[in-house]
Amino acid sequence: MREQKFCLGIETTAHTFGISVVSFSGEILSNEKHVFTTEQGGMIPNEVARHHEQWKDQVLKSALEKANVKLSQMNLISVSQGPGLAPALLIGMRYAKELSKKLSIPLVGVNHCIAHLEIGNLVTASVDPVLLYVSGVNTQVIAYEGGKYRIFGETRDIGAGNFLDQFARALGIGFPGGPKIEALAKKGKQYVPLPYCVKGMDITLGGILTNLKQKIASGKYRKEDLAYSAQETVFAMLVETAERAMAHCDKDELLLGGGVCCNKRLQEMAIKMCKARNAKCFIPPNSLLVDNAAMIAWQGILEHKAGKSADLETIDIKPYWRTDQVEVIWR
Ligand code: AMP
Ligand code: MG
Repeated sequence: MREQKFCLGIETTAHTFGISVVSFSGEILSNEKHVFTTEQGGMIPNEVARHHEQWKDQVLKSALEKANVKLSQMNLISVSQGPGLAPALLIGMRYAKELSKKLSIPLVGVNHCIAHLEIGNLVTASVDPVLLYVSGVNTQVIAYEGGKYRIFGETRDIGAGNFLDQFARALGIGFPGGPKIEALAKKGKQYVPLPYCVKGMDITLGGILTNLKQKIASGKYRKEDLAYSAQETVFAMLVETAERAMAHCDKDELLLGGGVCCNKRLQEMAIKMCKARNAKCFIPPNSLLVDNAAMIAWQGILEHKAGKSADLETIDIKPYWRTDQVEVIWR
């Protein structure tokens, strides 16, 4: 028999407006979304917010239909409270409060980055992994140590997804750039040396982007070779920092999260590194790697079961919320 308690998850930290229904026993009944896209100009926060506002009712409807449940059957609302774009977060928070009041059910606000890690633990066999979280804006190496989810390494400037998107724009091949760069890189033959920017467990990507733009402008290189070289260089940097965190924390599990981890070459490099150090590499399906509401629902369930419930009058968005500021009550 299907578990009869359900959580409605709402995700709006960035480009994705997502709604998901997850049962308290961890069955993902639906995971719907609508993603803001643009031909040029990138993510302008107010335009993203307008997109979310415009799509929210439609996405809710399809999430309920897919799950084959009614809104009145929900027992809990979970919303991504941060980190993210403030105008986008506000749309989700307002919607979550409204639904929580209307249905008279509790609301919890959860941390988006930690949700990426906990959904991995739900759908793969990972238990206590180092998370290599590589998305549009965020690029971080996160692990649970000393009672908190700590950031062991991160980008000092732009996220790796943002890097790929800007590189793709410079090549004139459109948005989102990640999948297009991946396809182009498969046709690369020649490795073109690029700067390699790792400091401890942190990385920087802006300098590599500038270098690539100069190489594009010089007209001396094939696009395919530049795409291939960019991937080899940046993914090696990511895997190196993840490995250093694994060694430092003495953990033998690596979990991937974030849209860039859909990339097969990055997955291959992560698997190879894990094999070499006798560790396991866990990779959730693409629908749970990218921003999604199922992970927000599941994180809400974990925290609600541990006793968390928001005060509807005072709960607010947290655009700059760091993972190590989150009080961990569910472990
Ligand atoms: P997220 O913010 O986690 O939803 O991830 C979005 C980012 O993932 C965008 O910057 C995309 O370019 C990137 N992305 C999606 N698919 C791929 C792929 N196959 N390879 C590299 N990057 C990707
Ligand atoms: Mg994300």
